[in-house]
Amino acid sequence: MTRPCVGCGYCCFSAQCGLSYERFGCIADGQRCPGLKWVTNRRTGKGRYVCTAIRNPFDASELAIGAGCCSGLNTWRLNVRERKSVLDNAEVFYG
Ligand code: SF4
Ligand code: SF4
Repeated sequence: MTRPCVGCGYCCFSAQCGLSYERFGCIADGQRCPGLKWVTNRRTGKGRYVCTAIRNPFDASELAIGAGCCSGLNTWRLNVRERKSVLDNAEVFYG
């Protein structure tokens, strides 16, 4: 079951996609894809991650951007914030 994408960034922190390999080469473990950017809405003050590597509608279609989230049980969805790495998930342990 898919849920709406909330821009938590979990999927991109967890695994590099094909477009990322093509654009940036192989990224070392623990490094974030350079295409992943945290953006803040000036009006609401809320932020989310976005992919800035997409160049055309074909890229978006290939990555299923806009098709929803298929990692709907990940805990990052519950606390969308800027993260340092895939291990930056302290709220899982400290509540
Ligand atoms: S894990 Fe899901 S909610 Fe988070 S950025 Fe990826 S698709 Fe969006
Ligand atoms: S930010 Fe874009 S290019 Fe990088 S892993 Fe995520 S979807 Fe792929």
